Amino acid sequence: MFAKILISNRGEIACRIIRTARRLGVKTVAVYSDADRDALHVEMADEAVHIGASEVAQSYLNGARIIKAALQTGAQAIHPGYGFLSENPEFVDAVTKAGLIFIGPSARSIRAMGLKDAAKALMVQAGVPVVPGSHAVTGMADAGRAAAEVGYPVLVKAAAGGGGRGIRPVQDRAELAEVLPAAQAEARSAFGDGTAYIERAIPRARHIEVQVLADNRGNVVHLFERDCSMQRRRQKLIEEAPAPDLQRSTRVALNDAAVRLARQVGYRNAGTVEFLVDLDENFYFIEMNTRVQVEHPITEAITGVDIVAEQLQVAADGPLSVAQEGVVPTGAAVELRINAEDPANGFAPTPGEVARFDLPGGPGVRVDTWLTQGDRITPFYDSLVAKLVCWGADRAQAYARARQALREFHVEGVASTIQLHRELTDDAELLAGPVHTTWLEQRLG
Ligand code: ADP
Ligand code: ADP
Ligand code: MG
Repeated sequence: MFAKILISNRGEIACRIIRTARRLGVKTVAVYSDADRDALHVEMADEAVHIGASEVAQSYLNGARIIKAALQTGAQAIHPGYGFLSENPEFVDAVTKAGLIFIGPSARSIRAMGLKDAAKALMVQAGVPVVPGSHAVTGMADAGRAAAEVGYPVLVKAAAGGGGRGIRPVQDRAELAEVLPAAQAEARSAFGDGTAYIERAIPRARHIEVQVLADNRGNVVHLFERDCSMQRRRQKLIEEAPAPDLQRSTRVALNDAAVRLARQVGYRNAGTVEFLVDLDENFYFIEMNTRVQVEHPITEAITGVDIVAEQLQVAADGPLSVAQEGVVPTGAAVELRINAEDPANGFAPTPGEVARFDLPGGPGVRVDTWLTQGDRITPFYDSLVAKLVCWGADRAQAYARARQALREFHVEGVASTIQLHRELTDDAELLAGPVHTTWLEQRLG
């Protein structure tokens, strides 16, 4: 195991990684921007290095500065968390070149999965079903042909997109002609790559993803699936494990497909294979996230596996601590994303000082957060302030505990998604069974 690692991230995920490192006896180095001088992750780490101004381009995206901090402090490896540099293969190459270890997959795997249209082509080779669609389209001629072939409505998707951005629904050819150039230009400025492709829009789809882990010795396991259908604007708001009301055969096929493709691409470390599942339970690969996922705690809750610990173990060239037969999911878990956003005002971010911050507790309740009372939420970073994770013997108990926890959870001084979660966890339709990826938006009106 490593003696010391650097975490090139901030917020709840930096705190969460530090917690596991500490448990394993691994020393930690935090990095921080101007805005994060007094942040919890800085306080929790054994050492901290200031890496620049508050803007992400000058701090958490400044790979050279981060690598320098690792070398200065004698860290052996870098954990990137999610977002920021976590899926940047040039960063991985630079880390490796500096003689450090990147806690994640190889640059080659990240590249293979980085462009979603190319990743789909790989999946077809692995015998995994994908959403019908095209490769990169250049102009209206091939885009129109591709869309006609798969049938409207379609989605124009940015190959390099992520975080729910860069996806545009299109109803017909006229709309495609309008949307395509704008989508390409947007993708170029947002992701540095204007590649767009066409995909059939799957109606009333569920988003179901499979957590995989792989080591350098050929061991690949899955930790079962998560249902992340509760989304707004293609961004997850509530996630559950396991996926409710899924036929056993579908669950087995999904989990198998994820393991098969991880093997096919020689994947190592933690990753998530995302699928859409239609009303007949046909499933289609949409993308692979080559990093730890925001919603990984619900998988930890039902399997008892510490996913970050496995990441460290594998990066240190050790074996996975679990074999497939040893992964026995129990009960059910739900994660509610507490964002500093105002649902009454189009979910606009709400920076400001947090006057009161009361956390819930009790059996089956975990809160991952970076916030403490009196902290100031700045406009520089994403609006996730806490993840409330609740679990129990079954789905009903997980939601009951979530309802109770939300009554005890108070954020004052800034608007948040807590009240919305209180309403959602009381919603009869949601509690009755699975919902699809546009359910929440329809409910919000
Ligand atoms: P998860 O799949 O783990 O739930 P999200 O899609 O919510 O991940 O994204 C996790 C974080 O990473 C968010 O802060 C999101 O804004 C950011 N992110 C993910 N992919 C990208 C990307 N390609 N470009 C910019 N930010 C991204
Ligand atoms: P990102 O990289 O931003 O996470 P994804 O390709 O994973 O993008 O898609 C994000 C979400 O967009 C999905 O969870 C789903 O709700 C919706 N989506 C993506 N592709 C399709 C599709 N072909 N049909 C219907 N919904 C889709
Ligand atoms: Mg996705």
